[in-house]
Amino acid sequence: MLSEFDLIKQYFVRPAGSGQPRSVLGIGDDCALLAPAPGMQLAISSDMLVEGRHFFEGEDARRLGHKSLAVNLSDLAAMGARPVAFTLALALPAAQPDWLQGFSSGLFALADAHGCELIGGDTTRGPLTICITVFGEVAPGKSLRRDAARPGDDIWVSGTLGDARLALAGFRLEHSLGAELQHAAAQRMHLPTPRVALGVALADGGLARAAIDISDGLGGDLRHILDRSGVGATLDVDALPPGPVLAQQAQSLRRAFTVAGGDDYELCFTADPAQRDAIAAAAARCGTPVTRVGRIDGDAGLRLVDANGMPLDLVLAGFDHFK
Ligand code: ADP
Ligand code: MG
Repeated sequence: MLSEFDLIKQYFVRPAGSGQPRSVLGIGDDCALLAPAPGMQLAISSDMLVEGRHFFEGEDARRLGHKSLAVNLSDLAAMGARPVAFTLALALPAAQPDWLQGFSSGLFALADAHGCELIGGDTTRGPLTICITVFGEVAPGKSLRRDAARPGDDIWVSGTLGDARLALAGFRLEHSLGAELQHAAAQRMHLPTPRVALGVALADGGLARAAIDISDGLGGDLRHILDRSGVGATLDVDALPPGPVLAQQAQSLRRAFTVAGGDDYELCFTADPAQRDAIAAAAARCGTPVTRVGRIDGDAGLRLVDANGMPLDLVLAGFDHFK
């Protein structure tokens, strides 16, 4: 049986020369030491994943390593912050070498892709729970806050929506897709892509005002922007970009899962219409498609309309994130 310290050393302390050191002092002391670049603000966020709640029991360890960090990097992206470092608090039922090897390899592959250093954490025995805290950097006044949307702003989303929710519907036997499509949709659920480059480009360029990452479904998450900004919105439901698998499904399902999916980890952001061309150019440079899907209004509330601008009364019962 591995001791706690052997486990940390073996799976989470990187050999010298691997990864990108961003800290003054990393794993091994009572605290890590981090020196933010002069004049920059630190953006900090935590996300916890609990077995049975956020992922299925027996979930593949490598994918779980990826997703645990991805959902945290997605929060930095939504703030327009560049990833710097993260901590990892782990509760494990047992120290299984295969699991730890898989988990740490998935985790570090994504961490290295974003130059984000693991600088510390905590390890204990308990029901499988993964809590990551990420630290990012953003210039003062540049962060993409939820309270910054203004009437007249365009509403944009990155990438595509709904395939992760569609995969969940398949796993729950609410909807049958066939093996190949189910596998394709499940990739979106297991391996989300945090839109870090886009978030940073929008913030650095002063292109967007408010932003949020879509974890609980666009409708619900957009409401957070509306509430914090004291505005309303009209959302063109038929303009929402469905994931490639969802695109092949019936319109009712497309509408439901693009508006109220969950686990998408795309960005929803608002911007002055004068920035349309600059946003399209920045998105192209990042290799992340973006779509204009609505408008911020002065009147409170979220109005869903179809392609002709007619009000849609979507029956969203059962999609508990959308209330
Ligand atoms: P303390 O007793 O002060 O809480 P620990 O013995 O828990 O310290 O941890 C020893 C060192 O290992 C610390 O630097 C801590 O940040 C780091 N550490 C513990 N668990 C992890 C982990 N899962 N991933 C990365 N670093 C970890
Ligand atoms: Mg400790």
